[in-house]
Amino acid sequence: MIDLAVLRGSSFVVLGLARSGLATARALTAAGVECVAWDDNAGSRSAAVDAGVELADPGSIDWRRATALIISPGIPSRLPAPHPVAAAARAAGKKIICDVEMLARAVPKACFVAITGTNGKSTTTALIGHILAQAGVRCEVGGNIGRGALDLAQLGEGGVYVLELSSYQLELLETFRANVAVWLNVTPDHLDRHGDMAGYVAAKANIFARQQSGDCAVIGIDDEPSRTAYARTSSRPGITAVPVAFDRPVAGGVSFRAGRLIDADGYSVDFSDVPTLPGDHNAQNAACAWAVCRWLDVPREKIVDGLRSYPGLPHRQERVASVGNVVYINDSKATNADATARALSSYRDIYWILGGQAKEGGVAPLAPYFDRIRHAFLIGEATDLFADQLEGKLPYSRCGDLQSALDAAHSRAQRDAGGPAVVLLSPACASWDQWKSYEHRGDAFRAMARALPGAQSLGMAA
Ligand code: ADP
Repeated sequence: MIDLAVLRGSSFVVLGLARSGLATARALTAAGVECVAWDDNAGSRSAAVDAGVELADPGSIDWRRATALIISPGIPSRLPAPHPVAAAARAAGKKIICDVEMLARAVPKACFVAITGTNGKSTTTALIGHILAQAGVRCEVGGNIGRGALDLAQLGEGGVYVLELSSYQLELLETFRANVAVWLNVTPDHLDRHGDMAGYVAAKANIFARQQSGDCAVIGIDDEPSRTAYARTSSRPGITAVPVAFDRPVAGGVSFRAGRLIDADGYSVDFSDVPTLPGDHNAQNAACAWAVCRWLDVPREKIVDGLRSYPGLPHRQERVASVGNVVYINDSKATNADATARALSSYRDIYWILGGQAKEGGVAPLAPYFDRIRHAFLIGEATDLFADQLEGKLPYSRCGDLQSALDAAHSRAQRDAGGPAVVLLSPACASWDQWKSYEHRGDAFRAMARALPGAQSLGMAA
């Protein structure tokens, strides 16, 4: 837990008591900093009381005493409509900040590596943390992934905080400075919270705010808003901007393609045989991680070791089991066609399990990958829609639920595949029709795949 004693004398209101908010309230309380907290959910409130946190009903908060509101990034402070507590804080002229800002205030001299982007944040954050840890650098990994910022250990000199930051968190920073900022990519997302694409891009661009001479910005330049961000950042004096590009060499930068990356000086690394980082999208993540670790002076061979031993994250093209030549892959985090496209582009001879609650457009955009698919197995609410969209293009079966789909995919793959093949759960759908969350769905798939006759477990422990 981060020691917030330097903030004694201030008084905070904490709104939202899930993972990051509870950690914030606990850290403030433990340090003897005045704080009251609220969550609309009664269960979260009682967990906070059990942790020794003082609650305050929204109507009874004395805003004259408060220094600032610390809000959980998932709660709207502005758009589409501010939570009433956020509206009251703003009306009282109080700042609205998040836990990462508190971390920056508590350890202002620490080295911060901050990662953002529409896709690949968690993977790149975990990968950088893994490479640094393997290379013997003391580091803590958290923020939008894993532990909340104030749950991390206090690091002394030489330690590095590796933080995944969402656009919501980036909007709530005031003094936080990223010594190394990573911007992976930007495509339209969360527009309800940011008003429009310009608002979303502006929130993301906060990752470069307050960077100073001697800092580094690693920027993927494969989409238009990201190229603009690169042009702006590279013209700032004293900041080293490292471009990262797909399929073409870039001066002073890192490029990648199909599991190979090429550094600015021509040094080239092949990691196409690392099964935990399949596809060009993961090559982008690896190239950004490479640039960061080089900037932090990690020797090349240590970075290569880290890339090769990266264990992967659950639910993202996670190899969970094998039976003979067939590998079973849990990509439950792919809740839209875009994410599923990444998985489909990474394999051939795919027995594809998909379905759940469909997103707009369904699976129509995935047609370019259909020649990689041997058979599709449909589950959940999206079955009729997807059957219509696949009709005449791809053989499919209606399976109802995940267990039936896995059983059908398993027997077909074992009977017909003949060579290496994958049974891939990449649903292109939300999970809520049949599961509590994508994690719940992916955990169930992992357990089911490992229970298949003759299955060998792969990857991380369940
Ligand atoms: P995030 O934390 O930004 O949601 P993750 O690392 O959890 O990203 O990856 C989520 C999904 O996004 C992956 O399953 C994959 O489909 C896709 N993805 C990962 N990295 C990239 C990337 N660099 N570019 C585009 N899509 C990506």
